[in-house]
Amino acid sequence: MTDDFRERARSWLAANAPRRSSSEDDAESAGSAERVRTGIAEQQEFQARLYDAGFVGITWPKEYGGQGLTNAEQIAFSAEAREYELPVGAFVIGIGMPGPTILECGNEQQKKRYLPKMLRGEEIWCQLFSEPGAGSDVASLQASAVRDGDTWVLNGQKVWTSGAQYSDFGAVLARTDPAQPKHKGISMFIVDMHAPGVTVRPLRVATGHAPFNEVFFDNVRLAPDALIGEENRGWDAAVVMLRNERIAIGTMTQPRSSPLAYDSLRKLADRLGRAGDQGVRRELASLYAREQSVHLLGQLIREDAMAGRFPGPRGSVIKLAGAELGRYATQVAADVLGPQVAAADSDDVRAVQISIVAVPGGAIAGGTNEIQRNIIGERMLGLAKDPGVDRNTPFNQLRVGTQRSAKESS
Ligand SMILES: Cc1cc2nc3c(=O)[nH]c(=O)nc-3n(C[C@H](O)[C@H](O)[C@H](O)COP(=O)(O)OP(=O)(O)OC[C@H]3O[C@@H](n4cnc5c(N)ncnc54)[C@H](O)[C@@H]3O)c2cc1C
Repeated sequence: MTDDFRERARSWLAANAPRRSSSEDDAESAGSAERVRTGIAEQQEFQARLYDAGFVGITWPKEYGGQGLTNAEQIAFSAEAREYELPVGAFVIGIGMPGPTILECGNEQQKKRYLPKMLRGEEIWCQLFSEPGAGSDVASLQASAVRDGDTWVLNGQKVWTSGAQYSDFGAVLARTDPAQPKHKGISMFIVDMHAPGVTVRPLRVATGHAPFNEVFFDNVRLAPDALIGEENRGWDAAVVMLRNERIAIGTMTQPRSSPLAYDSLRKLADRLGRAGDQGVRRELASLYAREQSVHLLGQLIREDAMAGRFPGPRGSVIKLAGAELGRYATQVAADVLGPQVAAADSDDVRAVQISIVAVPGGAIAGGTNEIQRNIIGERMLGLAKDPGVDRNTPFNQLRVGTQRSAKESS
């Protein structure tokens, strides 16, 4: 059964998907990161074909648009897809984070209404957790949703929202009862990103791209069925989403053709005549070994998660390992390039430079390296827990985030 599926995936991909550049390709194509940044309409068209061919939502239940297959098919597909540049980046957040959260915490109507269109790429999703005063400590968030009849009115600001500029829906955390301690009195909602009162402003980063945004909610009226899970129990749903986020980011398979991957840097070293240098060879060998171990650990965790065995703090290990691998790859790239690291003369070098600038983001997105180390220390190594002195105080009596007392703000 899995063999048939694998064979079907192999021939569909060969006929339909853009192949990653192989190590025999000429150096010019090595780092063209721009190739994967195809337009949204093109990504939606490809995602729909991928879905119709039966290769999206492989393990999700059939009644919610999934294929209802097993882990084995998902693994077989991922292995085959590794050789291709699938232009599906716009759907990674929805299918990796809000999707599994709705599957686990949402009601029947939400699962039927939102999940099939999410899988087919007809509706794109983003995740609206971080705020200017609430990042690592998300529970300090101040966006509010106030009940009005059978709906809620949402106000506040979110920041660093990846993909908000082209999203149709978002999973947003908002405070629904400020008289409760900070982890309580939070709810998770589905927000229509095209609703009146939603303003999205892209934030441009050092690479020249605008991957994320600040999002403002001014009296946005939420739909009556917008609540995911229970009112004031949104932290439970947030934990589910954060767990899925760590797994999604940490186990994301690095494209072999990505500019900081071993294959690309090795090819670049050949082209620049640096492959004979003992130091460069040692660094490349070490990069290869690290890349393989992160890949294998990611595969193990992904397989466990798909089999329903949640990795717990191992999700933090893989998230941290992936971020550290990126950091190490930048050092190797600097050794391969020598002085050229600061002065691009070709597309492949420029792609490496852009990737180097983007790497620190990987140590922040989905929880910073320090936060992952805290989790590993507390939950795996048994180190002392953060005392959390503000855990039991009503939120409206705290001065967290950008919140100030009435006296201070007057
Ligand atoms: C590329 C990228 C994409 C992102 N996409 C999204 C998105 O789609 N949706 C979304 O909601 N958010 C998104 N984020 C935001 C991300 O989740 C936050 O930036 C992250 O959680 C850190 O929060 P912060 O930026 O407020 O930093 P802060 O929490 O203010 O942290 C500042 C520094 O203090 C350290 N620190 C904080 N608390 C502790 C502690 N207890 N112990 C030790 N050190 C600590 C941190 O490690 C960090 O170095 C994205 C971020 C990036 C970089």
